[in-house]
Amino acid sequence: MANSLHTFSSSSTTAARLNLRAPSLALSDSPGSDSGFSSISFPLKSLKFSTRQVIKPPHRTTTKLVVKATEVDISLSPKVNSIKPSKTVAITDQATALVQAGVPVIRLAAGEPDFDTPAPIVKAGKNAIHEGYTRYTPNAGTVEIRQAICHKLKEENGISYTPDQILVSNGAKQSSVQAVMAVCSPGDEVIIPAPFWVSYPEMARMADAKPVILPTKISENFLLDPKALESKLTEKSRLLILCSPSNPTGSVYPKRLLEEIAQIVAKHPRLLVLSDEIYEHIIYAPATHTSFASLPGMWERTLTVNGFSKAFAMTGWRLGYLAGPKHFVSACGKIQSQFTSGASSISQKAGVAALGLGYTGGEAVSIMVKAFRERRDFLVKSFGELEGVKISEPKGAFYLFIDFSSYYGSEVEGFGKIENSESLCRYLLDEGQPQLEFVFDGKSANVDKLGHWLCMTFSVMYQKCL
Ligand code: PMP
Repeated sequence: MANSLHTFSSSSTTAARLNLRAPSLALSDSPGSDSGFSSISFPLKSLKFSTRQVIKPPHRTTTKLVVKATEVDISLSPKVNSIKPSKTVAITDQATALVQAGVPVIRLAAGEPDFDTPAPIVKAGKNAIHEGYTRYTPNAGTVEIRQAICHKLKEENGISYTPDQILVSNGAKQSSVQAVMAVCSPGDEVIIPAPFWVSYPEMARMADAKPVILPTKISENFLLDPKALESKLTEKSRLLILCSPSNPTGSVYPKRLLEEIAQIVAKHPRLLVLSDEIYEHIIYAPATHTSFASLPGMWERTLTVNGFSKAFAMTGWRLGYLAGPKHFVSACGKIQSQFTSGASSISQKAGVAALGLGYTGGEAVSIMVKAFRERRDFLVKSFGELEGVKISEPKGAFYLFIDFSSYYGSEVEGFGKIENSESLCRYLLDEGQPQLEFVFDGKSANVDKLGHWLCMTFSVMYQKCL
């Protein structure tokens, strides 16, 4: 190892204790400082390391060590380079920095409920810890949770599975990416209706597959036009990703439309469907949820993804699942077994309690859905009153996908031109304070394809905004 760094304390014996195998080592003392820190830096042509360590110096001196090390190859895998960093995360980070600086910003970028996990679920998690339920579980999840999931899918979704057709993972994101990786070969096409959850195209790229984006229209509530789908399908089409209720539009696919899509899918023997149903419980009547796998002939071709993060306010518990034909689910399990192994034993116990709350999550979930609905109504009305803004009323999930395109091209004094959703987000964050209480999530990946849109979540909108 060229640069091995060992824990050390600053004293006259520092150099001896460091045991740094590096070409040159320079020590510089700063006797005036009593910070109690030492810093080490490795200046390289293209790389800098630094670390700070708390020490207890006998003479309260600080030692600065500068180590020149051999050059390190910092190249990354082409796969990593092909993946786009998340703009959502960038906006969230900017908003977080403002919050930390005391600016009253409410972060509406991340898809996360502001509610606490319902008490019976928390209790089950606590009990799991106290009862020593803290060991590895089977890779696919405990039989207990897989049976509970089968029961839920039968009762609520009308789809029959056995526990060996269920794979429990560390969140629905893992369930989805494993499914994409398990079924796609290099060069296969993954059909993604836009606007889409920003992770889908990156998942396709990770599988060396090609994302094929299918635009939808606000005038059609962002629902996929079956004819447009048909026109895009080729012999390379391997996976169609459907997300209903949708992140980021809140659209809910009516059963009739899903049936039309199923008829097209059925004509393409290679085509599978990944049906992301993570928002199924967050739905506003009269809209209703239909599971794609419940449609005639679709069970065999559908990989149903679901999870606990959204409806049960369990984002941090990291628990999701995949249901599908055993052949595909086992393949996903194989990936998982070499990747993360089974999900947290504690979260799985909590997940069983969540599924025990009653039909579609019982009262605990319906209280949250009621609050989301009130917020949706408030926002749809408020934005609807703004000049030049177009909205399609969300029928589910907790996102609002807004067309702000009429604002683009405007020059703002002291800021410059608002070019697109991203610069509008930055303008609102930079210039809108302190009146601004919303942070918009510029889902630019969607924006590029569709024109100019902004998405915001109302999941974390506090009462004071109402
Ligand atoms: N699918 C969709 C559509 C989502 O919006 C999210 C979270 N943003 C996920 C899957 C992943 O959820 P998790 O990994 O927290 O279960």
